[in-house]
Amino acid sequence: LVVLEKVNKHFGALHVLQDIDLSIKRGEVVVVIGPSGSGKSTLCRAINRLETIDDGSITLDGQPLPAEGKALANLRAEVGMVFQSFNLFAHKTILENVTLGPIKVRGVKKADADKRAMELLERVGIAHQAEKYPAQLSGGQQQRVAIARALAMDPKVMLFDEPTSALDPEMIKEVLDVMVELAEQGMTMVVVTHEMGFARTAAHRVVFMDAGAIAEENTPHEFFTNPRTERAQDFLGKIL
Ligand code: ATP
Ligand code: MG
Repeated sequence: LVVLEKVNKHFGALHVLQDIDLSIKRGEVVVVIGPSGSGKSTLCRAINRLETIDDGSITLDGQPLPAEGKALANLRAEVGMVFQSFNLFAHKTILENVTLGPIKVRGVKKADADKRAMELLERVGIAHQAEKYPAQLSGGQQQRVAIARALAMDPKVMLFDEPTSALDPEMIKEVLDVMVELAEQGMTMVVVTHEMGFARTAAHRVVFMDAGAIAEENTPHEFFTNPRTERAQDFLGKIL
């Protein structure tokens, strides 16, 4: 569904993505882990074209990522993204946050967008707070709204960049539970996370990045019990 071939990206002298080859199948859940600065966020952002790449190619459903205009807006809808900071619109209600994209980008009628948004808010357990504003919700609740907002666009793939890193411990589980459910329902997902419990239970594949390159790729079971590279062993030694 998403194919990256020989993708390279520099920030000045820094080679942040080095010959990245990665192919994500429909329905697959890929967890990306690695040290700070290894390029995980840049990789996610490149798939959503929030970052351009220097060379190589990225395709979604066989099509190269569009560079601009309406096609780019559509791409951003098809590749849902959830960030560490929830990035909700502060001056809009929870319901409006979820319906804005479908109405503006997809041209959905307000009544239909509202109905679908309420279903999604129900799914993430926030329906009773639809009329509130983001600041009135906890971090975990806001992040669940952010997930519902991305889902409202009927994405082909969902990217999560450390979605629970900014949350208090007691709120992490409620967000991970929503993500596990999504994974079980067959959503294609790329998840940057340090939550190894999630990686073990929900991931089909773990991609370990180090210094801009994919250092190792394996099933979660193999990766956690028998990491092949020393760098992965070191990393796991520090976080587990
Ligand atoms: P973290 O775990 O800390 O989130 P990461 O693996 O997500 O790290 P990236 O955010 O992708 O890492 O950054 C990779 C490298 O690129 C880092 O050294 C970072 O400082 C650098 N970098 C990221 N964005 C930019 C930018 N817009 N301009 C210049 N350098 C950048
Ligand atoms: Mg990052």
